[in-house]
Amino acid sequence: LSAQSGELLGHPKGLFVCFMTEMWERFAFYGMKTLLLLYLTKYHLFADADGYLLLGTYAGLAYALPLLGGLLADRYLGMRKAVIFGGLLLVLGQLGMAYTGDAATGIQGQGVRDEFALQVMYASLALIGVGVGFLKPNISTIVGRLYADNDPRRDSGFTIFYMGINVGAFLASIVVGYIGETIGWGWGFGLAGVMMALGLVQFVLGQKHLLGQAEPSDPVALRAPVFAGISREWMIYLGGLVLAVVVWQVLQTRVSFAPLTAMLGGHEPTLTEVVAVLMGAALFAWFIRLMLTDLTRVEKGRMIVLMVLIVVSALFWGLYEQSYGPWVAMADRAMDRDTFGITWTAGQTTAFGALFVILFSLPFAWLWPKLDKMGMNPSYPAKFAWGLVFCGLAFGVLAWSAANPGSDGLVSVWWLVLAYAVLVVGEMVLSPIGLAAVTSLSIKRAVGLMMGAWFLFSAFGEIIAGRMGTWASIAPNADGSFDIPRALGVYSSVFTDMMWIGLAGGVLMFALTPLLK
Ligand code: GLN
Repeated sequence: LSAQSGELLGHPKGLFVCFMTEMWERFAFYGMKTLLLLYLTKYHLFADADGYLLLGTYAGLAYALPLLGGLLADRYLGMRKAVIFGGLLLVLGQLGMAYTGDAATGIQGQGVRDEFALQVMYASLALIGVGVGFLKPNISTIVGRLYADNDPRRDSGFTIFYMGINVGAFLASIVVGYIGETIGWGWGFGLAGVMMALGLVQFVLGQKHLLGQAEPSDPVALRAPVFAGISREWMIYLGGLVLAVVVWQVLQTRVSFAPLTAMLGGHEPTLTEVVAVLMGAALFAWFIRLMLTDLTRVEKGRMIVLMVLIVVSALFWGLYEQSYGPWVAMADRAMDRDTFGITWTAGQTTAFGALFVILFSLPFAWLWPKLDKMGMNPSYPAKFAWGLVFCGLAFGVLAWSAANPGSDGLVSVWWLVLAYAVLVVGEMVLSPIGLAAVTSLSIKRAVGLMMGAWFLFSAFGEIIAGRMGTWASIAPNADGSFDIPRALGVYSSVFTDMMWIGLAGGVLMFALTPLLK
């Protein structure tokens, strides 16, 4: 395939076009995530629990919508057009955030609860969510299509791509995090929008390198008018905008239904949680129907393994995503964030995760083929089990550090660095591997949808993370400060519980591995 357009560093050039696009998309998404909890609690005066829930809801929607974006691209739009449309929505959403931040008024840190600004924020989050939905699954699927079926470069291709994701995330934490917390929230959000726009221009200029792999399956049907002279393509775009309006409302709605509230131990579920469960049920219904069609035994077996991996990934992300919630809160409230004369802002500490991914990517890309040659490459399920184990251990590190603060009563940020290092080992054996598994285990005609399913379970993870985050809620003192020993006590006990959840999940997965193999 790649012979048609030339290679770069031994990979098809299109990989780097996708790399750059996804890098800026993630810059926008993680810029948002880095700041969101701090922005909500400090600027919009949200209580911790409401902050964690909205963080989970927003990220959850952003990962649930790829199911739809993947499906629409598979069936009608093709990946290329979907990426461009999604990118435009992302830019719009970031600009909305720039407006609603304090850029215009400069009231950083004073705390306001301005209903109009809040509504602009929800609308912007919705645009970003729908934008991610159109962009993220499709850019990942294009990467898979640049390689022939049995091309041995596929896994390392995804590792490189995954690095792009994390260069974006790293820059977002460092730059957007810094600007947002020190200069003004709106400036941070706005910068993310500008960079996404540049990334999109880059994609459009580089689209020839996608080798026609991202085109609509039936361009004629796409152009045909379907309603009031409007083509199917434009109906999809209009539908995307309508969806953004719906999501805008969904984001801020809780469901008052007593039995559900009782099930959640007295907490009202968010509408997002309910929608996510329904989407999950629909996915399973589709999957079971697919299993009843005339797939071969091998195809069925692979699809089942893939589905199990996807389901397990939700537990991993549920734990992992605490890093953008309670980990940030702990860094903000109870950590000494000085290293080598640099004082990190709390949001900036999320950069450690992305940094370790970047550092570990090449060693892992090198490791898998080596292990393979020695016949020691762990199977997909075993890799996932290891992922959960490392994730659990990372919480162990942080729980221990919270129970043993330094003489100043604070925890050194180095413990957070160590926790991230351990967490990211878990990520490396699970997340890029999961993407590769989707494109290699799925039957061909369902790759886009399965990619959507992969992200849907990231959505469950985010939503679970939001819920679990509420365990770590801490009420501030009357003057807005925090009782540090009390806060550390809460973090220590909650993170210990999370450690056990990760370890138990890992052991369970190891037990399942022989069966899945
Ligand atoms: N960190 C990766 C990304 O942003 C994976 C996230 C996920 O699948 N939950 O793409």
